[in-house]
Amino acid sequence: MAIPVTITQRPPSRREVKERTAALLADRPDLAERLHRVRRQGRTVRSCEVHLTNACNIRCKGCWYFEGGFDTAVKELSDLGRIRAFARRLRDEGVNQATLIGGEPTLVPRRVEAFMEELPYITISTNGLRPMPKEGFEDIAIAVSIFGGGPLDDDLRAIRVNGSTFTGLFDTALGHYRDDPRVMFIFALAEAGVPHLEPTVRKIAENGNIVTFNFYSEHGSDNPIRIENERRVLDEALRVKELYPETVVSHPYFIRTLITGASHWGGRFGYDVCPSLSVDHPAHADRVANGNPVIPGFAAWGADYETLQFCCTSGDCNGCRDSQAVYSWLVVSASRFLDSAERLEEWLDIAESYWRQWYWSPYHASRAGAAAV
Ligand code: SF4
Ligand code: SF4
Repeated sequence: MAIPVTITQRPPSRREVKERTAALLADRPDLAERLHRVRRQGRTVRSCEVHLTNACNIRCKGCWYFEGGFDTAVKELSDLGRIRAFARRLRDEGVNQATLIGGEPTLVPRRVEAFMEELPYITISTNGLRPMPKEGFEDIAIAVSIFGGGPLDDDLRAIRVNGSTFTGLFDTALGHYRDDPRVMFIFALAEAGVPHLEPTVRKIAENGNIVTFNFYSEHGSDNPIRIENERRVLDEALRVKELYPETVVSHPYFIRTLITGASHWGGRFGYDVCPSLSVDHPAHADRVANGNPVIPGFAAWGADYETLQFCCTSGDCNGCRDSQAVYSWLVVSASRFLDSAERLEEWLDIAESYWRQWYWSPYHASRAGAAAV
């Protein structure tokens, strides 16, 4: 694992946070209820991630799972009884949310059920080729990936296990999930895909789904997050967000940080601030002690349902701009948004937009009483 370390200013102390927050709320009591609600939401959800299977029905270019050797690093467990016992153990330890990745979770729906039996908040991450049935899976959130948009998506993803290619993967996913509120597309932006950004989001909007942005980084390339014209990608992503404010869940601040890696307080996304790591993994002792917040109790597990993984994704921090890791970084960094009431309000908007991504969340647009921003 490559772990570049950068120096960032330590966050303010608990006492400073408390005093600053109280002072801001004294001027803006209207923010208190939103702050209380979103903090409660953060405390309620205790997350983990599980590599549900080592199998996948396609081979995307630059896939960190296969190119990083995750499929062969551990022996996959298929015994449903033991998988159920694993999910029960998570529940007993206080975990109530699992993001099930792979490999491809739609290939093993019985394993998804095993987690649903024990945990209330389930998200699966899928490539969209096979549908996740509705019946029996009504309450799960489904994150469907797209790479680049337009024809670029097929170039990068529509590749069978035997290496032959096909077309129409994104359209296939749209067909499976028309007007399905469980679904959010996770659209990995790529510089070459800029002309396809708006048409792709329009299709998602017309299909009755929502989308959040990710950043396409090719695992194994020298500089996976290098883009020649950052401004062009950023401007287009922000323009499309403005055009489709309901469809694009991503907050503009998040979009900026995703593309530039930077925050307003001078922070840069990277290992030393990333909160989406397995906190009990021995490799993270120094990171956890450095004062930057982590997702409390977070753990990622391999497909043997036993091996603690480094983090929520590849462990290649040099090339990482994982959307959920970046979003989580902003959400756990509330203490950096206490310069003014406007900044605090901006953080509330960001945090609420983060929680709006998931169908099981009370912030999701389909839920009664969803917070309006
Ligand atoms: S669908 Fe996911 S796991 Fe399968 S090859 Fe593509 S990126 Fe990798
Ligand atoms: S999510 Fe990204 S930055 Fe964070 S530990 Fe994993 S690879 Fe590194």
